[in-house]
Amino acid sequence: MIEAECPNCHAKLSVPEQYAGKSGKCKSCGASVTVPAPPGAAPAESVGWAPAEEAPAAPQPPPPPVAPAPPPVQPAAPPVYAPPAPAPSGGAMDGLIPTKNPSALIAYYLGVFSIIPCIGLVLAIPALILGIKGLQFANQFPQVKGKAHALVGIIMGGLFTLIYGGCLILWIIAMAQGG
Ligand SMILES: [Zn+2]
Repeated sequence: MIEAECPNCHAKLSVPEQYAGKSGKCKSCGASVTVPAPPGAAPAESVGWAPAEEAPAAPQPPPPPVAPAPPPVQPAAPPVYAPPAPAPSGGAMDGLIPTKNPSALIAYYLGVFSIIPCIGLVLAIPALILGIKGLQFANQFPQVKGKAHALVGIIMGGLFTLIYGGCLILWIIAMAQGG
C-alpha cells in the first residue's frame, strides 16, 4: 500500500500500489489526490479509487398515456314515418277489412262485382288499377293490411279485363266484318 495525503483535508489515504503515480479522489472529501509515483512508474492516469458512486436511479418512465375515451355513440337514426296506429274501435276487424287501405278495399269489391256481365268491364279496369295501388300502399305500410284484398282486385280485375276486353274486341271485329 502507498501512503498518500489529501491536499485538501490532509487525510491519510492508503492507496493500493496499482494506483501509484495516478490521480484519484479522496475518500473523505472527494478532492483530487495524486498518489506519489514510485521510480519508473507509468505516467499518471486519472483513475479514482474511491468507491464508485451509485448511479442515480433511472428516472421512472412516464406513465403510459391514458387511452382516449371512445368516440360518442352515434345517435340513433330518426324514427321512420309510420302511419298512425289503427283506432281501438277497429280492433280485430282490421285484419279482415282493410279500412286503412281504401284502394285495396275498393279494388276487392270492384274485382268481385266485375264478374257481372255487361258492367263487368267497367268494374274490372278500375279494380285492376286500384288493386295495384292498394298493393303498393300495403307494401309501403304493412300495418294497413289490405294486401290480400288488393291481390284479389288485381287478379279479378285483370282476369275480367282480359275476358271482357277480348270479347269486346272480338265483337268489334265481328261487327266490322258483318258491316
Ligand atoms: Zn481529502
